[in-house]
Amino acid sequence: MMRRMLLAALAATQIGSVAQAAEQPLSPEVAAFRDLYKELVETNTTVSNGSCTEAAAKMAVRLKAAGLPDSQIVPFAVPEHPKDGGLVAMIPGTSKALKPMLLIAHIDVVEAKREDWTRDPFTLIEEDGYFYGRGTVDDKAQAAIWTDIFVRFAKQEYKPKRTIKLALTCGEETSGAFNGAEWLANNRKDLIDAAFALNEGGGGRTNGTPVSKGGKVEVQTLQIGEKAYQDFTLTATNPGGHSSQPVRENAIYELSEALLKIREFEFPVEFSDTTRAFFTRAGAARGGEAGKAMLAIVANPADSAALAVLRKDKMLNSMLHTSCVATLVDAGHALNALPQRAEANVNCRMFPGRTTEETQAILEKVVANPALKLVPKVLGKPIAVVPPMDPAIVGPIEKLAAKHFPGVLVLPTMLTGATDAVYLKGIPTYGVPGAWLDPDGNGIHGLNERIEVQSLYKAREYLTDLVKALAG
Ligand SMILES: [Zn+2]
Repeated sequence: MMRRMLLAALAATQIGSVAQAAEQPLSPEVAAFRDLYKELVETNTTVSNGSCTEAAAKMAVRLKAAGLPDSQIVPFAVPEHPKDGGLVAMIPGTSKALKPMLLIAHIDVVEAKREDWTRDPFTLIEEDGYFYGRGTVDDKAQAAIWTDIFVRFAKQEYKPKRTIKLALTCGEETSGAFNGAEWLANNRKDLIDAAFALNEGGGGRTNGTPVSKGGKVEVQTLQIGEKAYQDFTLTATNPGGHSSQPVRENAIYELSEALLKIREFEFPVEFSDTTRAFFTRAGAARGGEAGKAMLAIVANPADSAALAVLRKDKMLNSMLHTSCVATLVDAGHALNALPQRAEANVNCRMFPGRTTEETQAILEKVVANPALKLVPKVLGKPIAVVPPMDPAIVGPIEKLAAKHFPGVLVLPTMLTGATDAVYLKGIPTYGVPGAWLDPDGNGIHGLNERIEVQSLYKAREYLTDLVKALAG
């Protein structure tokens, strides 16, 4: 009873102190950052009825107001996609020897319907220690932090040794539409060319309890490399006929057999420097059956017992090799006819270094039916390249992470998905640690997207120090 009362009293004190902390006014700089972030989140940038061009223009106004001259702010858009524009800005460095660095973030967001969400997705709402709204994480947290760093550097007339470039781009979330990063890389490489780039793809994760409620950040990740995306169309054809007189040869059955073979096939295990470091460090930290298996697979990629354990974890399994999976089927033309055509989409996530051609050759061997046709959806797709674990870049990232997030494990990771990094050919691109999420993923791409207020503010502090360190 006493103990319970004591706990209740303690809880009351804590609630009191949290409430007090929340009431403390923000410093003018943090308030200005919050205002910039709010403006970005509240500018709808969905492909259906938003405008990245408008969002980029608003950020340009802020950069200009901070003192950045017009010559260092380059808005861009193509006439065919007037709403998918973006912005490049630059703070010139004093060193002639150092190549520039690039801060990149996409400003488009995934669709969000008001009727599906608890709150308006395009109003920034601060509630219970979180910011809610579409893009509060993906990727307007990063876009706002980069732009805010530029605003402050411009106001302070900060002169970095290394030129710092900023690119806010559109189209990351909609494959097939206009992509700003791809366009810049192909048409205005001069604007974004850099020794390296900092991008989305890294970040932290809590133990499931918000940090503002006593939880903790368990891990921070630095993304070094990602898989490449490719779709293949697998087609079976047949003369067809009347369904009252079926024959054994049938396009739907042939396609089904081929897809089941793909299900049973596992691409061979392989490692990059990143995934080797990840499995080694994470395996040691994790322990248990999975941790042991992670260490065993590094020692011997052919260890089938270890692989059997790791296959149960879909994320770890995907990090070990190329993966291909059936995602769509379209077959037959009438209820009462034998199918003349059966088609499936096979979506592949290719391990860094792997090409469309070799992945296609492997799939054809797996299917082992020359009557079926396998065709890649996009030709000339860039190959995913793993950026080097360069100590000059990775060193400051890890050192400053240890300072800002003391005691938190920092792990290099490979993204099993894909970002705009794939388009930045020749620019090693790193997904920075900083903002942390909850284990449920914070509604990214889904409902009620949110980020802990502290996560955003702490990431801003960390990334400011990081940009300064890397810019010399
Ligand atoms: Zn996204």
